[in-house]
Amino acid sequence: MSSPDVLEKLVSLCKRRGFIFQSSEIYGGTGSVWDYGPLGVELKKNIKDRWWNALVRMRDDIEGLDAAILMHPKVWEASGHVAGFTDPLVDCRNCKKRFRADDAKIKGTPGTPDGQCPACGTKGTLSEPRLFNLMFKTFMGPVEDSAAVVYLRPETAQGIYVNFLNVQGSTRQKVPFGIAQIGKAFRNEITPGNFIFRTREFEQMEMQFFVDPEADHMHWFEYWKAERMQWHRSLGLDEARLQYHAHSKEELAHYARVAFDIQFDFGGTLGFQEIEGVHHRGDFDLGRHQEFSGKKLEYIDQVSNRRYLPFVIETSVGADRTTLAALVNAYREESVPGETEGRTVLALHPSLAPVKAGVFPLVKKDGMPEFATKLAGELRARFPVFYDESGAIGRRYRRQDEVGTPYCITIDGQTTQDSTVTIRDRDTLQQERVAADRVGEWIAQRLAT
Ligand code: ATP
Repeated sequence: MSSPDVLEKLVSLCKRRGFIFQSSEIYGGTGSVWDYGPLGVELKKNIKDRWWNALVRMRDDIEGLDAAILMHPKVWEASGHVAGFTDPLVDCRNCKKRFRADDAKIKGTPGTPDGQCPACGTKGTLSEPRLFNLMFKTFMGPVEDSAAVVYLRPETAQGIYVNFLNVQGSTRQKVPFGIAQIGKAFRNEITPGNFIFRTREFEQMEMQFFVDPEADHMHWFEYWKAERMQWHRSLGLDEARLQYHAHSKEELAHYARVAFDIQFDFGGTLGFQEIEGVHHRGDFDLGRHQEFSGKKLEYIDQVSNRRYLPFVIETSVGADRTTLAALVNAYREESVPGETEGRTVLALHPSLAPVKAGVFPLVKKDGMPEFATKLAGELRARFPVFYDESGAIGRRYRRQDEVGTPYCITIDGQTTQDSTVTIRDRDTLQQERVAADRVGEWIAQRLAT
């Protein structure tokens, strides 16, 4: 059974509290493009930082890269995207809506009298499937002739392949090693939707790990499959909401020898869906770039004195899709013991929470605001902190619960006597008295886990 559907509630919370807004909303919005507001940008950045730390900072066998979005058009011929990055599309002649030909909601066969439009319900109005390339095209330079056509990259991986020898030569890494990058990708999806699940502009976090084709490359595939699942767990995603999905022969992309998705249960009708792909790409990409560019891309193994094109194990995860998974996973509506009003909580992993601590003077007098402002200022040097002195304390707690702030610090009557404050835990609602000058360390210790 799938988990409950919280997507609609999340869309509203995200707008109300400044996580995610529809792009160009005042003009009626842009199809499936979203903007991250003040809290959303922090949440997504925390996810990207955790990925970068786990893959680049904490390891000495992976190097970072930031390749440009615009690349030589031949890159996309070599990669197979010009010829093959297509989805089959059908149009309804009656309501003018478009669908992917493999959309489960289509009844009958498109292009025949029994093909039925899932939107308007008319029979016989669906066109034959035709292939639609998902890459966005644009022009480089002032003259719009076909010689200057360039594409917005539909994945970041190709920037890594074309820089393979630049990175290897400049860092003197030896195979096996990896190159990692975070960046925007663009796909003119036919049926985008489900909030930030499938959008036309999104961010990917991709890592290509280069291995010796004569060594045990399947060992590395299994290694990365396990490592990446562990990373998702480390974000606090529920074990029961995560699973592997092995690609069948029919599902395998043109470049892949073996592939597994890591899926997350988004709840409701969406259910389990891919958040990351782990792909064994063999030497397809380096081989094609070598062929199309005419430049040797072989690695020279100094020890065995062999030249070869390494095999590639790729891990590819969406930053936006992982942000959505973290939000869905965290969303709860709870009753509070002893209170009539319930609360909405984002039980985000503390390291992902956009704000780490709320700082509140209990009342606006007796030196409490001054003490609280000073403490907030000191903590701000270490973490994002939100200072709030308005309204009842219960309401201030609720507002922080709703955006996932893990700790709320209250300055009360006792603080002015002994310089201690209370720290309230978002999840357990327990309050602990801590010396004000120890609060920074107290929070830092908990964020480190
Ligand atoms: P799907 O089958 O969902 O379209 P895919 O198999 O084409 O995805 P990949 O090309 O393997 O996806 O991309 C790797 C990751 O990039 C995906 O697991 C997903 O997290 C993210 N991603 C891909 N397309 C989109 C999109 N249109 N919007 C948001 N994230 C995306």
